[in-house]
Amino acid sequence: MPPTTILHVDMDAFYASVEQRDAPELRGKPVIVGGSARRGVVLAASYEVRPFGVRSAMSMAEALRRAPHAIVVPPHRDRYEAASAEVFAVFRRYTPLVEPLSLDEAFLDVTASRSLFGDGETIARAIKTRIRTEVQLTASAGVAPCKFAAKVASDLQKPDGLVVVADGGVAAFLAPLPIERMWGIGPKTAPRMRALGFATIGDLARAEDKALVDVLGSWGEHVARLARGLDDRDVDAAHAAQSVGAEETYDEDLRGAEAVARTLLDHASRVARRLMRAGASAYTVTIKVKYSDFTLRSRRVTLAEPVQDTDSIHRAAVGLLSRMPLADRRVRLTGVSVSGIVVGAPPRTLLPDARADKQRKVEAVTTRIAERFKNEGAVTRASLLDLAPSGPKMRRS
Ligand SMILES: [Mg+2]
Repeated sequence: MPPTTILHVDMDAFYASVEQRDAPELRGKPVIVGGSARRGVVLAASYEVRPFGVRSAMSMAEALRRAPHAIVVPPHRDRYEAASAEVFAVFRRYTPLVEPLSLDEAFLDVTASRSLFGDGETIARAIKTRIRTEVQLTASAGVAPCKFAAKVASDLQKPDGLVVVADGGVAAFLAPLPIERMWGIGPKTAPRMRALGFATIGDLARAEDKALVDVLGSWGEHVARLARGLDDRDVDAAHAAQSVGAEETYDEDLRGAEAVARTLLDHASRVARRLMRAGASAYTVTIKVKYSDFTLRSRRVTLAEPVQDTDSIHRAAVGLLSRMPLADRRVRLTGVSVSGIVVGAPPRTLLPDARADKQRKVEAVTTRIAERFKNEGAVTRASLLDLAPSGPKMRRS
């Protein structure tokens, strides 16, 4: 068997780069993408603002303290999704084995593509070039015989980086890198590890498994293997559609659990339609609620069996809502999404009751009708009717 060649491709400062691409006056400027200038968090920071210590996930207040001159741009998720689709279309020209990790990041197994397109480095260069010329954005890539090394490599020369790890060279490549590069060793764990004398991934590779398990728990065994370059995880293309969601921002804040629950039914029905069209079902249901003060809360549940129909998704969503503080709170945005997506409808044997089976047939008909009218509002459940036109006005987001 030829050695596996895996690419990890990661877009550079993705949201911020899309904003700079679309608005020339932002190019070369310190740009922060985020919800609101006062509240909210940094979703992305352009490379011009990073030297000031601005990082994504930092509070906007902290970011603006560090870089008061930064230009704050609200997110345009539709543009990021469109750019992401173009980037993933480039990936799929080189291999069908693409495992998305997020909108802007994926693993690609190009082992079988080498006879057509050249070695891993050649393919990585070609992908980077196409992304630059066709999507007008830059990406960084890591090429390696395993996922972990490819992921670490793509991050080493950002932006516009390309780092190749030779076959058989994974352990040597990893050894000099600081332990913070290891998966699962974050800012909390790293100081403890350093105090124990672990400074580099090489130190982890040389340690006894037991010593790592003592500090890291069962994760320690995994760390020991990764540090030695032992990582045989496949690129999992089945995770292709990682999540499907629907959400709305309301012009007037919602008050009370009942009003919020009704919006979840609307979202659940849109999500169910998209799953049905894709011929997929999902294990995990997530709801999110943004309060009038812009704090965002989400809750998720992973079900024993994958679901596809509105009722099942809505039931799970309402169950999650009971774990969300709502009393005396006003809500400006709600959303439902599903992840853990698998191809195919839930197997019949998993839906023994006739009600669920009937439900699926109703969904199928509803989807077909909605499709014909090219308008998802064409067929509406009775409990949704009071959302429109007298209900709160909605902005699709
Ligand atoms: Mg990225």
